[in-house]
Amino acid sequence: MQSQRTVELVEAKALSSGVKAFVFRMLDGAPLDYAAGQWLNFDVATEAGVARRAYSIASAPDPEHPDRFEIAVTRVEEGGVASIALHELAAGARIEVDGPHGFFTREDAARALPALLVATGTGVCPMRAMLQDELRNAEGPPLRLLFGCRSEADVLFRSELEAWAATSPRFSLHVTLSRPGEAWTGLRGYVQRHVPSLIDPAAKPHVYICGLTKMVTEVRRVLKDDLGYDRKMIHSERYD
Ligand SMILES: Cc1cc2nc3c(=O)[nH]c(=O)nc-3n(C[C@H](O)[C@H](O)[C@H](O)COP(=O)(O)OP(=O)(O)OC[C@H]3O[C@@H](n4cnc5c(N)ncnc54)[C@H](O)[C@@H]3O)c2cc1C
Repeated sequence: MQSQRTVELVEAKALSSGVKAFVFRMLDGAPLDYAAGQWLNFDVATEAGVARRAYSIASAPDPEHPDRFEIAVTRVEEGGVASIALHELAAGARIEVDGPHGFFTREDAARALPALLVATGTGVCPMRAMLQDELRNAEGPPLRLLFGCRSEADVLFRSELEAWAATSPRFSLHVTLSRPGEAWTGLRGYVQRHVPSLIDPAAKPHVYICGLTKMVTEVRRVLKDDLGYDRKMIHSERYD
């Protein structure tokens, strides 16, 4: 299958004040063959020319619509180029994409083991794809998502994540807010602070981390230095 293809925007919707979700379809109608957790390069037309940027696929392969996929993009206000142009796209817009790429996926062997997923912001996108994929099976090892956001309004895919937590005994959701409102009764502060309490030493989970480098580095440090993790059990994707 050729990796350079054209996609058409089907719909865009705001997930929060700074993040939009986009549903694309392959213009040739053929399936996009990918694994949950992978990403695509988008050649985005901007005022300064074409900017190639990577975006994680935020949806699991869908047998009913194998030619469709979703992404979610943070609008980078300071110095952003492609993210700003993507936020302006209207339905019907066409873009060249290249991929899928990446190894931030759940191999068969790892799928049989418990996992802790740690994300901030749109770093939750590949995790959403993994969860959509794996929670189709009611049976399986426990999956925990530790999701760091600024405020309650920034909890992307909140209703979907909460519905999974309510219906799947395999899945638990742990949202931590760095700038919570007074009414917030959940976790507070950065994700790295809560990693130790979410790891059961008796059943050490594989850990998947996705977001900006500063957070990824901090979580990896806690896992290695404080919890004695082997790096083979840590999987990460950095957005910057
Ligand atoms: C494998 C991979 C997957 C990615 N998946 C996604 C995704 O699913 N959703 C998404 O929004 N972005 C994702 N990114 C980041 C994306 O590729 C762009 O870097 C981002 O959209 C900024 O592009 P820009 O042209 O607007 O700004 P640029 O001019 O490229 O960068 C401006 C500044 O923004 C910083 N930056 C990059 N990403 C972010 C961010 N999310 N929040 C705040 N600052 C940021 C950069 O480090 C830089 O300092 C991914 C990056 C990689 C490498």
